[in-house]
Amino acid sequence: MRVIFLGAPGVGKGTQAQRLAAQEKIPQISTGDILREAVKRGTPLGLKAKGFMDAGKLVPDDVVIGLVDEKLKQPEVAAGYVLDGFPRTVAQAEALDRLLQDRGITHVINLDVPRDEIVRRLSGRRSCPKCQRVYHMDSAPPAREGRCDNCGESLQQRVDDKPETIESRLAVYDRQTRPLIEYYDKKGLLHNLDATGSIERVYANVLAAVHSQRHV
Ligand code: AMP
Repeated sequence: MRVIFLGAPGVGKGTQAQRLAAQEKIPQISTGDILREAVKRGTPLGLKAKGFMDAGKLVPDDVVIGLVDEKLKQPEVAAGYVLDGFPRTVAQAEALDRLLQDRGITHVINLDVPRDEIVRRLSGRRSCPKCQRVYHMDSAPPAREGRCDNCGESLQQRVDDKPETIESRLAVYDRQTRPLIEYYDKKGLLHNLDATGSIERVYANVLAAVHSQRHV
């Protein structure tokens, strides 16, 4: 299966994509994670991306498309993959269509969460800079305050999860990413899911969607 997770920041794309990829034993390709890692390492890609990311803007299409192109050429994607955070613009979706040709996307899962709940989720989100595990201060706090349960590292708030940046990311989503819902609906690939429930309940719906119809 070749799956795309769509949705605004904070709807739980990363969590659901990670689960599905682990269960199906296929790679999860998260452009956000790849870019954050590049920023942390100070690579040329990271230096190019940092300013856009910190401001809650999209990294230019050619940069992200090049990055995904490289990933999709790796042998480990042959059995399928889960795309998380890509595409985010119509230009990226069109580039992906060109890259994939006859091995196109099989399912697009759009996760839907009301705006006030998204803001609550993003502002309470904390993550471990070492093992990437994600927490929420109210709904999924760590056992020891401020420390990762997994590796003990000090938890951090993403720079782009600060209130002023959240607003700008949501505006970018509305303008540039939301049109992809229609783009994939027209192709008959879209599964629209209510993502307000528990992680388990949403995941059950994700599984039902990816197994409901097998496109070739
Ligand atoms: P995410 O972790 O998916 O929320 O991504 C964090 C940030 O990385 C975004 O706010 C963008 O600045 C950048 N980014 C991730 N994926 C893309 C993409 N497909 N196109 C452009 N920028 C991206």
